Amino acid sequence: MNIHEYQAKDILRAEGVPIPAGEVATTPEQAEAIATRIGGMVVVKAQVHTGGRGKAGGVKLAKSPSEAREIASRILGMTINGLTVYKVLVTAAADIASEAYVGIILDRATRKPVFMVSPAGGIDIEEVAAKTPEKILKLPIDTRYGLQPYQASELGFFLFDDVKKVRAASKIMMSLYQAFMKSDASLAEINPLVVTPSGEVLALDAKISVDDNALDRHPDLAALRDETAEEPSEVDARNSNLTFIKLDGNVGCVVNGAGLAMATMDLVKYYGGEPANFLDIGGSSNPEKVVKAPRIITGDSSVKVILFNIFGGITRTDDVANGIVTATKANPLKIPIVIRLTGTNEEIAMKILTDNGFSASSDMDEAVQKAVALAKGGKAA
Ligand code: GDP
Ligand code: MN
Repeated sequence: MNIHEYQAKDILRAEGVPIPAGEVATTPEQAEAIATRIGGMVVVKAQVHTGGRGKAGGVKLAKSPSEAREIASRILGMTINGLTVYKVLVTAAADIASEAYVGIILDRATRKPVFMVSPAGGIDIEEVAAKTPEKILKLPIDTRYGLQPYQASELGFFLFDDVKKVRAASKIMMSLYQAFMKSDASLAEINPLVVTPSGEVLALDAKISVDDNALDRHPDLAALRDETAEEPSEVDARNSNLTFIKLDGNVGCVVNGAGLAMATMDLVKYYGGEPANFLDIGGSSNPEKVVKAPRIITGDSSVKVILFNIFGGITRTDDVANGIVTATKANPLKIPIVIRLTGTNEEIAMKILTDNGFSASSDMDEAVQKAVALAKGGKAA
């Protein structure tokens, strides 16, 4: 789960990271009032779950409260990378002498949190990583001991020469590590971490992603979820207890079990197709989920075919068949459906489907090839 910059900043501030004062506004008038309270120059910043806001015009300096209002009225309602802006953060502006990057990600390869820091921070960090990787220091952390002070100094010295700034940066690394661990984050980053002309080290942007599977342990973090900032189909799926991830292809997949879902996506690719999603209806045959799945998938207009791939173990395939019949009666499908069922109560399931005008097969290769052909607009093989 991603949270907004202003929420991430609240978490980091609580850990002692120096961050300019700021408040959130949903209207231009509120933005003006906040700018008046803060006084002086402010920055108005779009709160959306995507990077590159600066480049998209979603981060602007304002010299006066009335200018903050004008800018807020332009940024609110703007679309950045497909996401609508409903909130802006109005925060005290800082003078910038230099911009650095500081981040922690959970790294699968080392199975550790890995610090990544670079003195070349700011809006072009992706380019730095691609073109001049030597400007980035990576440091895996052993969670049994945590970030040690000598490591925090090493990270600080990679960013700055001046001992005072190194100390300030090291302290920020310690705080960032604490915030990362306490929130069960998969990512925590500050970009830019700036040095002001007077030598202060400040965090001007913050991003934290929390591991979805850890949210049960963090009701306070779970409450930060902003559904208006998320992909609508993923919100719908989550509220139906389906594991769903939207992808860019056109073969909609409904599968039981994450492993089979991955195998299905692989097979779709193998036969030349592109999966439109990952969708796991889970191990049991909850008919409600079977009914909801096609609705969520067909909400994506690029989907050209629905592929059901069900392996019946605990899942009873006749329950799934009944779910498909109920779902399509309630909402007739406008696109073809390809069904593959095998396992528990397979004969009963096949009869239910054929009695209701569907065809189904028990062969996974055959079903996937058929779905891929239909998605390409061709005849089923
Ligand atoms: P992002 O583009 O979504 O990562 O948004 P950021 O919050 O990182 O802002 C983008 C850029 O705007 C930063 O790299 C800074 O160069 C600039 N910026 C942000 N806050 C301030 C500020 O307080 N003062 C000044 N002068 N520039 C700022
Ligand atoms: Mn940034």
